[in-house]
Amino acid sequence: MSRAFTLYRLQQVDTKLDQAAARLAEIERILGDNQAHQAASQAQQQAQAALHSAHTALRAAEEDVTAQQKRIEQNQASLYGGSVTNPKELQDLQMEAESLARRLSELEDAQLEAMAAHEQQQASKAAADAALAAVEVQLAGEHKALFAEQAELREQVERSHSEREAAASTVPAADMETYLSLRASKAGTAVAKVQAGTCSACGAELSAARAQAARSAEELTRCDNCKRILYD
Ligand SMILES: [Zn+2]
Repeated sequence: MSRAFTLYRLQQVDTKLDQAAARLAEIERILGDNQAHQAASQAQQQAQAALHSAHTALRAAEEDVTAQQKRIEQNQASLYGGSVTNPKELQDLQMEAESLARRLSELEDAQLEAMAAHEQQQASKAAADAALAAVEVQLAGEHKALFAEQAELREQVERSHSEREAAASTVPAADMETYLSLRASKAGTAVAKVQAGTCSACGAELSAARAQAARSAEELTRCDNCKRILYD
């Protein structure tokens, strides 16, 4: 087994571990992010409050109409009950009857408007309820899939740790030091495979001598451009 190959094997396991760690962090972030649910929940609460106000306004408008109808009944009783016979008083009652009827008409219009507003708020509330329920269903589905992926990744990380131990045990101490220092300075990739005469990490074309050296079992060869260890 060449020195470069043992490091390449280690690099493959470390890359897999890096990818798993990045994805696990992303999953944590998504699971912790409940903005969509908060927004839908807030909208639903606002719709609930608006419906409550519309309901109160409708009740008040209905009471106004009922009270006005009572006033009209009393007026009609006085006007036609026979207890009032004075022509002036009867005339006043008649004028009052007309005024009360005009006011009733206004109050009935207001009641119709309140009914329409109430119906509109009922529809808004129903829409907000449905939107919140949809977000909850969607999140439950997403979270279920994410929890499954998370569990799978954690198992994979467990296995990779064992693989890493096995791979690291074959690397000489000095090579390990070089490898770790390159990992730290080269965005996690210390070892690059030679692909069609080029460094797969940076894309630089290798000289024939470099490409030849990369096949050496005894020596570690570096890419002239990115300085990573080459493996062929
Ligand atoms: Zn390179």
